[in-house]
Amino acid sequence: MTPPSAPSHEASILYLAGDPALDLVNTVDWTSRGPEQDRFRTYEGISRWAEGAGVLSVAAGRRLRRVASERPRPAAAAVEYTHRARETLRDLFGAIARGESTAIGLRRFNQLLADASARLEIAPDAGRGGRAGFDWRWREQDTDLRAVVWPVIWAAASLLRSDELNNVRVCDGDDCGWMYVDRSRNGLRRWCQMRTCGTREKTRRRRGS
Ligand SMILES: [Zn+2]
Repeated sequence: MTPPSAPSHEASILYLAGDPALDLVNTVDWTSRGPEQDRFRTYEGISRWAEGAGVLSVAAGRRLRRVASERPRPAAAAVEYTHRARETLRDLFGAIARGESTAIGLRRFNQLLADASARLEIAPDAGRGGRAGFDWRWREQDTDLRAVVWPVIWAAASLLRSDELNNVRVCDGDDCGWMYVDRSRNGLRRWCQMRTCGTREKTRRRRGS
């Protein structure tokens, strides 16, 4: 009897990649049949994910959801835009992890980066214990529904520039495709999660299939 093909992960949102850019990739299961269990079907889901990932404030998330509920068509376009960004990050970091060419992936990534960085500006920052100061700010973060993606693209650019890029891995589990920064002490982390992909692999090995 062949074991039933269990779903890779529960359909909940998990943050296990160690970087928001890779956590974005991990919001769908990249199976041999195509993407499944998409956690990003609605703008609501995407904005909640962004809050949980720490790339969007709760207040901005609330305002964006209000805009999305009033303007369904731009909301649908923003969902589509997020899916495209997710696929771009998956292709680019996947190519890096496998040591393949990054030419096409980088071109697509740099288009997203141009989009995002056009909204980046320096603004006065009052929250510095009374001292005058400045910080980065995303323009239109309360009004443009694509704003959930920009900080993730920025995080991806930082990861691309960092030494940790060498530790980006794709999970070994079947029909998973999730990615993470391997920060294990021995650098031998093979799975997104032991209790899903790691356990399934061990079960299969015990069965000898
Ligand atoms: Zn996995």
